[in-house]
Amino acid sequence: MATATIEAESSESSVGFEALGLSAEVLSAVRDAGYTEPTPIQLQAIPLILKGRDVMGLAQTGTGKTAAFTLPIVERLAGGPRRTRVLILTPTRELCVQVEASFRKYARYAPVSVASVYGGVPLEPQEKQLRAGVDVVVATPGRLIDHLERQNVVFDDLEVLVLDEADRMLDMGFAPQINRVVSNVPPYRQTLLFSATMPPEVEALARKYLRKPVVVQVGRRSSAASTVNHYVYPVPRDRKSALLAALLKREAMESVLVFTRTKHGADRVVRHLEHDGIHSAAMHADKTQPQRTRALEDFKTGRVRVLVATDIAQRGLDISGITHVINYDVPQQAEDYVHRIGRTGRAASEGDAFTFMAPDEIAMVRTIERVIGQEIPRISVPGFDFGTVAAD
Ligand code: ADP
Ligand code: MG
Repeated sequence: MATATIEAESSESSVGFEALGLSAEVLSAVRDAGYTEPTPIQLQAIPLILKGRDVMGLAQTGTGKTAAFTLPIVERLAGGPRRTRVLILTPTRELCVQVEASFRKYARYAPVSVASVYGGVPLEPQEKQLRAGVDVVVATPGRLIDHLERQNVVFDDLEVLVLDEADRMLDMGFAPQINRVVSNVPPYRQTLLFSATMPPEVEALARKYLRKPVVVQVGRRSSAASTVNHYVYPVPRDRKSALLAALLKREAMESVLVFTRTKHGADRVVRHLEHDGIHSAAMHADKTQPQRTRALEDFKTGRVRVLVATDIAQRGLDISGITHVINYDVPQQAEDYVHRIGRTGRAASEGDAFTFMAPDEIAMVRTIERVIGQEIPRISVPGFDFGTVAAD
């Protein structure tokens, strides 16, 4: 499919942002953001996007993919007339808000307007914003279709379409909606696709919507962030909540993201922790949008130290300063492990990833180890390890 594939090294580069062809306005915003060097995906993707090429960018979570497409888009928009020229599709409301925030950050010296539209909140304020005219729309597919049907927005002048976190959008079953949206945008456009992984479905999506794309791939397809320290705690299933409470009390854990397999599981963990006097919040699909926003806000500001979430609610979220990710349940897919771990150790900071492994999860942990290409050290906590307590 690709006309060219660039495999960038994940190692240090000495090239600065100045060499990428960005204007002074954009470079100032980058400086304000505190970035000193482009990440490998930014280094490879930005010049190609500026040239107008379709680009498929593959790099693990936390490698700066948002800026990789946002910076060259801001560059393109600077100075143009006001009409919707850019559409960015994202899988979740949280990501939508986050990409919008990135846009505002990078466009602070450029007169670019941006609106985000996502479900779970009233249509009308979004409708007003869209009808007033914006340069950039960041949207989740379902809500965007609502607006298209009401003709709140037209994409006749669209120049750039971005499919962000493409793997996640497909996981969430958005393929028909994406198709619907793409049928509403001009065929002659630049299309950018970013994804942490490239399962065959993502490749098919790229083949369908991108024209002669350059594939930019950073690092190994499934390698977990290298700044993360991984540990596995063998523990019987019915002792997991006690182990979690014990670790939270014992270790210096500032900001902890706990993953459970189910929504019920997340609620149960929160109840257990509250019972042990540890304040925490749950985030999953059954929570209302205000509840989710609140939980995230409390977690970001440090009011709540522990956020318990399911994968759906969490993937792709950029929360800085997470010191620990805890897999309360071992993820069913090795790729999910990589994504979850991508929540900590983002950019250059260190993070720890603890995985609670019940006896029936040993095989899954082995699979994960094969995929990430490293053996994860086991930590035995006396009184919890199923080697030292009766496993039942
Ligand atoms: P991805 O989409 O690849 O998962 P994000 O775009 O959300 O990752 O970026 C992850 C984090 O890295 C964000 O907090 C972002 O501000 C930061 N970041 C992006 N580019 C750089 C850079 N060049 N230098 C330092 N930090 C960066
Ligand atoms: Mg992203």
